[in-house]
Amino acid sequence: MTNWNLNPNAAYLHYTENETVHGVQFAGAPCVSVPLVCDACSSLLSKPIDVAKHGLIYAAAQKNMGPAGLTIVIIDAALLDAALEVTPDILNYAHIANAESMLNTPATFLWCLTGLTFKWIQRCGGIEKIHQTNQAKAELLYRTIDDSDGFYRNSVQASFRPINNVPFVLADTAVEKDFLCLADQSGFRGLRGHASVGGVRACIYSAVTLPAVEALTDFIQDFARVHG
Ligand SMILES: *Cc1c(COP(=O)(O)O)cnc(C)c1O
Repeated sequence: MTNWNLNPNAAYLHYTENETVHGVQFAGAPCVSVPLVCDACSSLLSKPIDVAKHGLIYAAAQKNMGPAGLTIVIIDAALLDAALEVTPDILNYAHIANAESMLNTPATFLWCLTGLTFKWIQRCGGIEKIHQTNQAKAELLYRTIDDSDGFYRNSVQASFRPINNVPFVLADTAVEKDFLCLADQSGFRGLRGHASVGGVRACIYSAVTLPAVEALTDFIQDFARVHG
């Protein structure tokens, strides 16, 4: 971050902690002199985040926390009154905080399911344990790709590779089609890369177990053996 050209008069700096399309993740929260705003949709509760460094963190629940339709916001109390006059109630965090997040009827079922995930994280041993498992899953997958003699390739620098999203390509695009088709038939669904970039992408959020990733790496190795 030291060589980034930042405007010191900015009201805030927004960053996306983990960019899920190309698969690039910050190694730590950037240090800036303005309030730091973080899109942590794909990473909140998958690893520890230094909350104190941030003015605001927001995350949709659907990646590591619960069902779609719920968004969690963590805001520095000092920023609560920073909303513009025209901000509608539903986006005004001071009003939402005053109403204890019940400005209108909340999505009770989503709250309940997300609360169960919080308890599951505690039962697993907390966020450090979840993080360790997520790192082990990602390391296994990246190692399988890197050790494939170029059959599969991920070109993101190791220190910025995300733990949750592992995109890769096959050297031969025709073979890539066969890979995705056979993967789907073998029960590995949803491996197609984001529509804007193509390729393959394994989303291995916290709910995906290490044995599930081991099964995937077995499949990846077997496919390379047959088609390599
Ligand atoms: C998933 C995600 C979102 C939200 O995606 P929607 O599918 O549009 O709800 C936003 N930001 C990041 C970084 C994400 O990974």
